[in-house]
Amino acid sequence: MTTPPLFQAHGLTKIYGAGESEVRALNGVDLELFAGELVVLLGASGSGKSTLLNILGGLDVPTEGSLHYAGEDLTHADEKRLTQYRRDSVGFIFQFYNLIPSLTARENVALITELAENPMSPEEALTMMGLGERLDNFPSQLSGGEQQRVAIARAIAKRPQVLLCDEPTGALDVKTGIAVLEAIEQVNRSTGALVVIITHNAVIASMADRVIRFSDGRVANIEQNSQRQPAAALSW
Ligand code: ADP
Ligand code: MG
Repeated sequence: MTTPPLFQAHGLTKIYGAGESEVRALNGVDLELFAGELVVLLGASGSGKSTLLNILGGLDVPTEGSLHYAGEDLTHADEKRLTQYRRDSVGFIFQFYNLIPSLTARENVALITELAENPMSPEEALTMMGLGERLDNFPSQLSGGEQQRVAIARAIAKRPQVLLCDEPTGALDVKTGIAVLEAIEQVNRSTGALVVIITHNAVIASMADRVIRFSDGRVANIEQNSQRQPAAALSW
């Protein structure tokens, strides 16, 4: 029994600039990603990880190649459809939390849930992230790890099929970083979302089902972990 992949990329190529200044950020990526798995994407700075994540999330489009999501060709989707895809199916988490400073935790999450089809309440999403007591705090009243957990609550409240995380622990100390990874792991387990985590910290790879190594805009290697290490057991 094989499940069809949630994402299917064929020959995905992204070229920035032209002529002398041309950069091949992606250079023919073939990749399948499956519903419910937790994938860690490793690779040197500049190897194309963020470019791939942005294309998966409909923030950017490839120059060549194709990308299918749940059987749909996103490469030929118009802007309206891509907007709908981002809104309904994708949650993003970045290194910097991008919370609105003048809004409380609850209001930051509500901003997104108001646009979504079948969202959790902001209270439910924030409680899931251990912030049930901090609903009415402003970002400036929260630690870095707490702010990142508000950002995760905001990303998951719309119940996305896909959670894309670009260096989610990049700005955090080890202890806080691990707490944030535990929160992401919990989302994967409880909602069944496909989770992709970009990191340059190879230790994080042990919490994944699969580890994809990126090099020069290509998939260099894919490894299946026989067992997932709980994020709580990580240290670096
Ligand atoms: P990574 O996330 O692995 O560090 P990126 O995907 O951000 O790598 O970048 C891959 C390559 O593409 C780099 O050489 C980077 O400078 C280049 N690049 C990324 N985004 C742009 C852009 N908007 N314009 C021009 N070059 C870009
Ligand atoms: Mg990057």
